[in-house]
Amino acid sequence: MSPTVIKDVPKQLFIAGAWQDAESGRTLAVDDPATGEELCLVADASPADGRRAVEAAVAAQSSWAATPPRVRSEILRRAYDIIVSRTEELALLMTLEMGKPLDQARGEVAYAAEFFRWFSEEAVRVDGGMTTAPDGKNRLMVLRQPVGPCLLITPWNFPLAMGTRKIGPAVAAGCTMVLKPAPQTPLSTLALAAILTEAGLPDGVLNVVVTSDAAGVVEPMLRGGQIRKLSFTGSTQVGKILLAQCADKVVRASMELGGNAPVIIFDDADLDVAVEGTMHAKMRNMGEACTAANRIFVHSSLAEEFAARLADRMEALTVGVGTEPGIDVGPLIDDTGRGKVHQLVLDAVRHGAKLVTGGELPDGPGCFYPPTVLTGITAESAIAQTEIFGPVAALRTFGDEDEVVAAANATDWGLVSYVFTRDLDRALRVSERLESGMVGLNTGLVSNPAAPFGGVKQSGLGREGGRAGMDGFLEYKYIAIPTGN
Ligand code: ADP
Repeated sequence: MSPTVIKDVPKQLFIAGAWQDAESGRTLAVDDPATGEELCLVADASPADGRRAVEAAVAAQSSWAATPPRVRSEILRRAYDIIVSRTEELALLMTLEMGKPLDQARGEVAYAAEFFRWFSEEAVRVDGGMTTAPDGKNRLMVLRQPVGPCLLITPWNFPLAMGTRKIGPAVAAGCTMVLKPAPQTPLSTLALAAILTEAGLPDGVLNVVVTSDAAGVVEPMLRGGQIRKLSFTGSTQVGKILLAQCADKVVRASMELGGNAPVIIFDDADLDVAVEGTMHAKMRNMGEACTAANRIFVHSSLAEEFAARLADRMEALTVGVGTEPGIDVGPLIDDTGRGKVHQLVLDAVRHGAKLVTGGELPDGPGCFYPPTVLTGITAESAIAQTEIFGPVAALRTFGDEDEVVAAANATDWGLVSYVFTRDLDRALRVSERLESGMVGLNTGLVSNPAAPFGGVKQSGLGREGGRAGMDGFLEYKYIAIPTGN
């Protein structure tokens, strides 16, 4: 019997304020990754449904842009309150469709809600300017206006927070939108759409299209000329395809793509802090995060002790079904995801890495993978060049600062880096030299709704969250007014 939260969540497409089946009548199955069992069926959109969703967003754009900022702000604030008051239901829903342990799901609900609170505050602080041209002949008036109807595409690893991080600024800026969640985890997004409606979001401002045919539904939206902005979170590979599609109609694009985060533990680090920080950076969300620690560089003088302590911590974690109490590590999202993680471990061992703990595929249902520690990783092995997306810590050693900074930067990605040291000069110097959009200094957690989240190099374009989070949803307009001088 499916739990009440599954029964209660809407299972249709949400277009122009109405819940509706796909035109084709097709559905897709949402499975529980902890058991492999089907949770429910959800309407599966075709390109025709996608077109209707875009038309609804376009139709609502001008009246939404004209809605007072305070009204937009208060919708977000009400939605924040509703989300917080339903933490338990939303957390359970998320654990069922995605697998993360309930405690982590509660953490994500709080984090997701904070984006609405933050952007409810930003909605009434969009500023412009008025200056006089240097030659005194013109007044230069600068406005910031909503960019227009947006397409938002989210991944499965943070099903609620990736939605609120995009919807929040779009609502605050006065943009309408079509949101396409990942087909593995559409239920959190559908619940969110119902909450926003309850909070007073007008029809057509947010439209949700779930589909098993992402490529077929999304491409015509981007090439159709009505969507003005794409905000995408997902793999670098898909991000590149979408950027090329955006080029056709010069659709503005912000991209939160993959990472290959280095963790650097210097010989002067506080080892307790470094172990704790590495555990957070590695194990949050079972390692299924673009911010996850991917390459862990430990100064050779600490290498043995650090590996032993990390392995102890990893072995103490309880792996199991996320809805049960006391679970630290839930299942990975699906068999494909788990298979990739296991292949990376096997390849690393083939390249000479030593398996300190974990590394064996368990029997039984569900996509579980044990917390794993590998030492002696070489720069050439696939695990050093690929986003692991699983509970596997890959350790290697280094000798000096220049060497480790060069090695950390020797990647096409640049989302986040983590640095552990007690030397202030070194901390700042290395943070400045690392090619990443974010640095965690003596911490394994950087995500914060008030901070500009995003990467450099092939990790993305633009920033989400913080004051900068509004930028991608606003256009400058400059009006020239002669002074008569
Ligand atoms: P992951 O490998 O983590 O699932 P993806 O980049 O494949 O990451 O998926 C992120 C989001 O992008 C999901 O919502 C997915 O459905 C969507 N997506 C995947 N392929 C395409 C595509 N060709 N066009 C548009 N969206 C896509």
